[in-house]
Amino acid sequence: MYETEKEELIKVLNKKGITDENVLKAFLKVERHLFVPEIIKHHAYSDVALPIGHEQTISQPYTVAFMTQALELEGRNKVLEIGTGSGFQAAILVEMGMKVFSIERNYEIHQRAQKLFDELGIRAALIYGDGTLGWEESAPYDRIIVTAGGPEVPKRLLKQLAVGGKMVIPVGDRKTQTMQIISKISTDEYKTIEIPNFKFVPLIGKEGWKSE
Ligand code: SAM
Repeated sequence: MYETEKEELIKVLNKKGITDENVLKAFLKVERHLFVPEIIKHHAYSDVALPIGHEQTISQPYTVAFMTQALELEGRNKVLEIGTGSGFQAAILVEMGMKVFSIERNYEIHQRAQKLFDELGIRAALIYGDGTLGWEESAPYDRIIVTAGGPEVPKRLLKQLAVGGKMVIPVGDRKTQTMQIISKISTDEYKTIEIPNFKFVPLIGKEGWKSE
């Protein structure tokens, strides 16, 4: 289903600079129309963010692809995602062979993603809670991806990132954010690349914004 639309989307992503074959292959496999509300299914393969209820969004495909490419995944990395939302980003990571942990602070959104993953047989650990605190129990993580924008990089996430690991996180004010691609060189040394002009819903929590 939607094969032509998917192939068109892959072309768009490729033109915008997504060249990682494994990322593009995952976009051919994962059915984005299953992750959006029924009523807007026909927009699922357009390169736009879409509403998923509770004032939240499924990120624009380009943004998902850009962040996934920036993670430079290797083998079967252990990946922590903050902001499960629709579950689409997590499904892309699972499709690419990663061991995925994903945290969502909105209980209904978390439950909906869990139900969808059960129905589709997608294996990932979906956790309900404040992702700015990370998930200590399964740390360290080879990769961390944060899909909501906060005022700064949560210190606990930096701590839970493995040495040699990478984190991708949008940081800024509530209107626009800069994507930070952080490499952890040693326990207290990091190298950061910044790419401006992203727009995310707010990261709300103990080490994020304090209110909606
Ligand atoms: N990755 C998602 C996807 O593929 O659909 C898109 C996520 S949406 C742009 C951001 C999500 O982050 C929202 O569902 C929001 O409730 C969640 N969120 C915001 N602050 C959070 C926090 N502190 N911990 C966990 N989730 C959070």
